[in-house]
Amino acid sequence: MLDTPLSEKLLKTTSVYIAKLHKLGIHTVSDLLGYLPRAYENRSQYRLIHEIDLRENNVVKARVNAVDQMTVGNRKKLIQAELEDAQGNVMQAVWFNQPHILRILVPQKEYVFSGRVKHDFGRMQMQSPLFEEVKSEQIHTGRIVPIYPEFETTQRNSIGSDWLRNKIYLILSYARYETEFLPPEIVAAERLIPRSQALANIHFPASEEVLRQAQIRLAFDELFLLEMAALMRKKQYQEQAASRAHAIPLQVGVVKQFLDTLPFTLTDSQRIVTYQILKDTEKVFPMIRLLEGDVGSGKTIVATIAAFHTIKAGYQVAFMVPTEVLARQHFEKIAAQLAPFDVSVELLTGSTPKKEKDRLKSAISAGTCSLVIGTHALLEESVAFSSLGLAIIDEQHRFGVTQRKQLALHGYPHVLHMTATPIPRTLALTIYGDQDLSILHEMPLGRLPIVTRVVSPDKREQAYRFVSSELTKGHQVYVICPLIEESQTLEFKTVTAEVERLRTVFPDSVIQMLHGKMKGIEKQQIMEEFANNKIQMLVSTTVIEVGIDVKNATVIMIEGADHFGLAQLHQLRGRVGRDMRQSYCFLFASEKATDTSVKRLRYMEKTNNGFELAEYDLHLRGAGELYGVRQSGLPDLKAASLLDAKLIEKTRNHAEHILNQDASLNSFPQLKQRLVTLPEFVVS
Ligand code: ADP
Ligand code: MG
Repeated sequence: MLDTPLSEKLLKTTSVYIAKLHKLGIHTVSDLLGYLPRAYENRSQYRLIHEIDLRENNVVKARVNAVDQMTVGNRKKLIQAELEDAQGNVMQAVWFNQPHILRILVPQKEYVFSGRVKHDFGRMQMQSPLFEEVKSEQIHTGRIVPIYPEFETTQRNSIGSDWLRNKIYLILSYARYETEFLPPEIVAAERLIPRSQALANIHFPASEEVLRQAQIRLAFDELFLLEMAALMRKKQYQEQAASRAHAIPLQVGVVKQFLDTLPFTLTDSQRIVTYQILKDTEKVFPMIRLLEGDVGSGKTIVATIAAFHTIKAGYQVAFMVPTEVLARQHFEKIAAQLAPFDVSVELLTGSTPKKEKDRLKSAISAGTCSLVIGTHALLEESVAFSSLGLAIIDEQHRFGVTQRKQLALHGYPHVLHMTATPIPRTLALTIYGDQDLSILHEMPLGRLPIVTRVVSPDKREQAYRFVSSELTKGHQVYVICPLIEESQTLEFKTVTAEVERLRTVFPDSVIQMLHGKMKGIEKQQIMEEFANNKIQMLVSTTVIEVGIDVKNATVIMIEGADHFGLAQLHQLRGRVGRDMRQSYCFLFASEKATDTSVKRLRYMEKTNNGFELAEYDLHLRGAGELYGVRQSGLPDLKAASLLDAKLIEKTRNHAEHILNQDASLNSFPQLKQRLVTLPEFVVS
């Protein structure tokens, strides 16, 4: 029944509208019922008799039980009616000298009465109220009215909230066919209302409380299914992959040997997560672990230790990063770190020349190359590892879901994902519900918080003078140009103009640019020159945002800062402050920036904690805007909020419990049925 297609007849409309609905992906009754209001307006204002307030006007919907007329005192004609509300409470209404009321007020009919109420010796009496008949179907008034997201169409007949309200009202009775898929024990334990009821009430709730119940139910379902799907994916993978990975026995000596060569000691956090990873890779069951840590928390070294440990056990390691610039940086650092140990490290990216690529591929398949660092070129089918033990994916949020899936081509290595997206744990569990999670909670010792200032236009020169003094000290500077998503050409122009402008401001420094249109080789060259301090000021688009590590850079200036999300600004800011030296971040708002967005920027001055910023951004702009989250395949939630940590926790616990009871779900047939129809649920 719920899969009944929406027809002209059913919706009492024209084919034009049906076509529009189709365009929006709304084809069936179920689709339309699933189109949830974005807000509600309480247009009911009706009061029950027991809610009447004697100090104000009251609107009461009531049935007329009886009407009669009497003459009182000095020949005044009094009309008196007994009114009964939906709860069966009664009150009186009285009119003086209005005989026509006797003709229009029909006993047993329902009306809305509006007027003042007096307390008359224990009885409520409404004084000469205005009244109108209650129509059998009040859709747009006299109730809590749903407001639907509207569609902007340039044509006439656009789909507006009122239209949707009419049409959804027409098919509302179908909601009763909605099946209950939650196990009854969960419904009972959480005191949820039936799903069918929730689906009807979410559109046309009889009261705020009824609405709240409906919202709770639908939000619960949404998150519960999400958690179920994630846990089942994990389980499926576990079964499929069982005993296919290489077991790498933990060799503490090997780790120590490597640590002894480092110029620093690990933080406690780094120690803990390294241990978690090495315990995972001991198993024949492949690890899928997400390492989350704020910018600069030192994720790379953790990955390098795991890589070294794997290689020493005789297996290969692939280290994948999203950009060539980053690949080269990692390659140079890691190759140097591993130099004392006679490990063969190679670099493979999209711009690796064909001949070199061929050489690498044969080294990889022959097993003579132990560690290969590169971009997603690593995932090409023609790259065949002889014994891949561990795959590391840095800045994993920058990779698409498909790219991550492609990894499966290479068998079942242990997989370590790394991300600086500082998302709350509950959110991570939802988005990456099929991974285990390790978090770096602290920064390496001795880091000074980056001093951040939002610079107003009149203070720009002052900021430049300061930058000048940093340059004089031999420090380096990043300049980030505004984000122009629509056009790389425009972005290129902005960067070029900015370089020219800055060259006149800082004539003694070498200023170069880096942007998305440059060839891989060019980018590498520029980055290398910057890393070697041949360039003092690097003007860049956000290509610089991930991973780059140049310790001598102590200043970052961000133009058009209001165009960025806070979490992304935090990533950019993380390019500086990468050792003990004091670093600075200057944020310049664009001319069009509003007071609100400047206020948002000021939050950057207050904290250096990525988690705090992310949470603030999450509240302000919603999860979709959160750095890196959209690309991770953020579920499109309709009823629930990803900020509802409590509900996420609760639904996850229930999902775990159900799967522990019966992983096959055969004893929960409706739930099973529901899960296989979910788009994000891939059954292998
Ligand atoms: P991210 O977590 O952002 O990827 P990196 O791994 O690039 O951070 O580390 C940032 C810098 O901190 C690097 O230069 C790295 O060598 C250094 N580093 C990492 N761990 C420590 C530590 N325990 N003590 C001091 N410096 C460290
Ligand atoms: Mg990094």
